[in-house]
Amino acid sequence: MKVVDHLARADRCLFSFEILPPKKGQGVHELFQTVEELLPFSPAFIDVTAHATSIDYREVGGGMLKRVPLQKRPGTHGLCAAIRYRYGVDTVPHLLCSGFSRDETEDALIELGFLGIDTVMALRGDPVHGEKRFLPREDGHSNAHELVAQISAMNRGEYLHDAESAPTDFCIGVAGYPEKHAESPNLEVDLARLKAKVDAGADFLVTQMFFDNAVYFGFVERCRRAGITVPIIPGLKPVTTKAHLVSLPATFNIDLPTDLAEAVEKAPTPAAVRKIGIDWSVEQSRGLIAGGAPCLHYYTMSRAQSIREIVAAVFG
Ligand code: FAD
Repeated sequence: MKVVDHLARADRCLFSFEILPPKKGQGVHELFQTVEELLPFSPAFIDVTAHATSIDYREVGGGMLKRVPLQKRPGTHGLCAAIRYRYGVDTVPHLLCSGFSRDETEDALIELGFLGIDTVMALRGDPVHGEKRFLPREDGHSNAHELVAQISAMNRGEYLHDAESAPTDFCIGVAGYPEKHAESPNLEVDLARLKAKVDAGADFLVTQMFFDNAVYFGFVERCRRAGITVPIIPGLKPVTTKAHLVSLPATFNIDLPTDLAEAVEKAPTPAAVRKIGIDWSVEQSRGLIAGGAPCLHYYTMSRAQSIREIVAAVFG
């Protein structure tokens, strides 16, 4: 069932989570264990991230370098199908502009349709290692709204080279940034670009992580004022180490509230840090449910333990 149908039929706030495909060369067993630890809480859907291929240059002797394409975490589509049919839970593959031509995107969508996948997250992807700014593939999309437009066209039966083809039927999710995307000049422009994704056919948003619920509720209000009416699913992740005080703001362009940052800073042990982060996330989750969030989406980084504790307290 599509994500929007799950949301429409729900009589309570739903639970969903995101996992990463294993690193190339690692088996899938541990990831299945992560999924199994969270299954008792009845996730409405599980997202599987996608990873762009980066280019590495390796010495081959004689001062020569060889260009090596590195796909560190392949298998997004296969994993989505495996989880869907193994556990009977809907899965949502992330689909990137990064590294894909329009033709490859079309083929990937056809494959996903055959696999019974009916919802995709349409994302641009970050600049790959070694690039200062995002560079699309030749004949690839520069921004997520172009990818959304291609999927919407396929949903109308308009393929790239054949005007009359069987329409696909994808529900489309896109990313929203309550504290703005790092490359957007300001909140207003960020919102206008978000609206362009929705106008191109996006059916729902999933937000970047945030740690202050006022940030989410303010974002929802700004979206509604701008005419963005689709469901807005908050994305959540707990702080579990002191290193997160630096890495999360730096990587995701987000703020950590002073109360949380100070408590983590002063915590005497790693276990105390973890407890502070989990308690914060539980309170955040309860506040979001009380405020009417349609679904809580947790970024697991493929590790279930902290998320399981949070979800047990909130949904158990
Ligand atoms: P866009 O919506 O295309 O926006 C990217 C930037 O381009 C923004 O700054 C925007 O303002 C700007 N922009 C948009 N349109 C225009 C225009 N017409 N002209 C000029 N500038 C424009 N990354 C992965 O690699 N794999 C994943 O699986 C993944 N999953 C994610 C899931 C969620 C819920 C979120 C929030 C992020 C995820 N990301 C993932 C990260 C995401 O790929 C990056 O944040 C990326 O930098 C932006 O992606 P986007 O889809 O938001 O891009």
